[in-house]
Amino acid sequence: MLKIYNTASRKLEDFKPLSEVVKIYTCGPTVYNYAHIGNLTAYIYWDLLVRTLRLNNYKVRRVLNLTDVGHLASDADEGEDKLEKGAEREGKTVYEIADEYIAAFKKDYRSLDLTEPDVWARATNYIDDDIVAVNAMTKNGFTYETSDGVYYDTAKFEHYANFAQLDLAGLKAGARVGFSDEKHNVSDFAVWKFIHPGEKHAMRWDYLGRPGYPGWHLECATIIHKELGEPIDIHTGGVDHIPIHHTNEIAETFAMTKKTLSRYWLHCNFITIDGEKISKSLGNTYTLAELSEKGFSPLDYKMWVLSGHFQGTRNFTFESLEAAKTRRLNWRNRIALCYQKDVPSDGKFDEILAAVNNNLNSPEAFAIIDNASLSLDDWQKVDQLFGLKLLDETPDISPEQYDLIRKREVARAKKDFAGSDEIRDSLAEQGIAVRDTADGTVWEYLE
Ligand code: AMP
Ligand code: ZN
Repeated sequence: MLKIYNTASRKLEDFKPLSEVVKIYTCGPTVYNYAHIGNLTAYIYWDLLVRTLRLNNYKVRRVLNLTDVGHLASDADEGEDKLEKGAEREGKTVYEIADEYIAAFKKDYRSLDLTEPDVWARATNYIDDDIVAVNAMTKNGFTYETSDGVYYDTAKFEHYANFAQLDLAGLKAGARVGFSDEKHNVSDFAVWKFIHPGEKHAMRWDYLGRPGYPGWHLECATIIHKELGEPIDIHTGGVDHIPIHHTNEIAETFAMTKKTLSRYWLHCNFITIDGEKISKSLGNTYTLAELSEKGFSPLDYKMWVLSGHFQGTRNFTFESLEAAKTRRLNWRNRIALCYQKDVPSDGKFDEILAAVNNNLNSPEAFAIIDNASLSLDDWQKVDQLFGLKLLDETPDISPEQYDLIRKREVARAKKDFAGSDEIRDSLAEQGIAVRDTADGTVWEYLE
């Protein structure tokens, strides 16, 4: 039985799906630049969620959105539009920027061996549905129009503050003097923005007789409505999404359908790097490509991520990444040993799955793996659960290589150390190390 900590109830709950197929939605990236390693942690943890559900024999239908509509950089509908900024930076159109970084994101995604969603939902493919959604919210009395767009009147949704335990009175007191004047409540937000004459915004669609574009939160509510249907079982995102983005998705869904958006909500925590937050100015916005240049594969990074809990605070250092890489190589060489002798199973896979079933406790599962005796069958299941390509990257060596190992043993028996060293060097060039143990020679992968 899977237990998960549900942000909505703030409790660890037994997971009970609403129907045979578990419906999952994951807030995806804004595609204006390469993802940094902090951005990618979420997808690694949600991959573990999907894999865990499947190992518990659930079927899953999952949607992941790609935010390719330019929105204002901050949650509060202020700041710069990230796609427009990307277009300016690279001298391209916003559509070219979106295509470029969707391709880059999918490449990163696949290099981490993350389970593919059933639907990759590009926000720009749902504009008609967004308009239907805004019309429904308006018809149900939840919106009002300002010179800036169509706004959601959060006072109309009595549970607005519940999800994030918002202190609306405090928000109001803390609001900037003269905060948009036409807003009825400080927490009100745009469901549709108008583009004013002279305003630069290449992505635009006609609605209410003027050019405009959907507010950020709307795409998720709309895509869920269209692709999954409310309520869904699990909605996932980063902790930063709780107070505004997810709160607003919930409010929009209620205004459209009078339904609850999702039964369970999972939020992963932020990582820091060398104790600092990830930021351009600190120069620590590493991409997977940059980690590769430093000798770490995407799966080494995945190993690092999963060695911590999704709700924990994590601090990334290159030393800890090195440790994760070494641990992964060590696991792979335990697989290599399974090819060379019969390694019995001590039946610990059930414990490994039980650890993960307890609120995706991957660090505990990893500690069990470190100390268990796992057969090849067990390792196959470990790979199914964590998607680390342990077996794929650890094939058995060839008959020719086994032959070389035998020849080296013969040379050693004859005290032909020069011949034995020559064979060892030749194997090392092929990425294989040999170790002489009391039970004879054992080979291992060097990396
Ligand atoms: P950004 O493009 O920086 O707004 O990030 C997009 C999403 O990535 C955020 O909404 C977060 O959920 C996630 N994210 C950003 N920084 C981190 C971090 N340091 N650790 C974990 N997740 C992050
Ligand atoms: Zn979302």
